[in-house]
Amino acid sequence: MSDSNCIFCKIIAGEIPSHKLYENEHVFAFLDISPLSLGHFLVIPKIHTEKFHELDNQSASEIILTLKKLALALGIQDYNILQNNGKIANQAVFHVHFHLIPKLSNKGLGINWNPISLKEDEFEEIKEKILSNL
Ligand code: 5GP
Ligand code: ZN
Repeated sequence: MSDSNCIFCKIIAGEIPSHKLYENEHVFAFLDISPLSLGHFLVIPKIHTEKFHELDNQSASEIILTLKKLALALGIQDYNILQNNGKIANQAVFHVHFHLIPKLSNKGLGINWNPISLKEDEFEEIKEKILSNL
């Protein structure tokens, strides 16, 4: 349920202070300590889980509902939701977390979007791999 070495589990337990925005049985939400813009917050499951695909369905659902609830409360129209999994993908804290990052004119998430080009058989191959595992 919780990991004694995990900083976010300690925040949920109140052992480390945070600017709490919301909690219920399944999730906890708080301001990011090192925000990219004003209002940048995190939503996490109460059950310690490292990566998104390992989440139980109830936690996953509650996280999405909480992101929506808090986006409405924050009253913003422009924002990014970011969720990193694995070191190579910039995950620094190994307890699943969704960032909600308001996009203000010159603050927020910077995106370096570099598309790759795929041949038709490469599209087909990856599609078939996914479909065969569904
Ligand atoms: P990641 O790169 O893993 O997606 O992002 C981890 C996020 O957690 C970072 O934005 C970082 O600022 C935030 N963070 C790390 N430690 C703490 C903490 O002790 N308190 C709070 N509120 N945020 C933290
Ligand atoms: Zn944890």
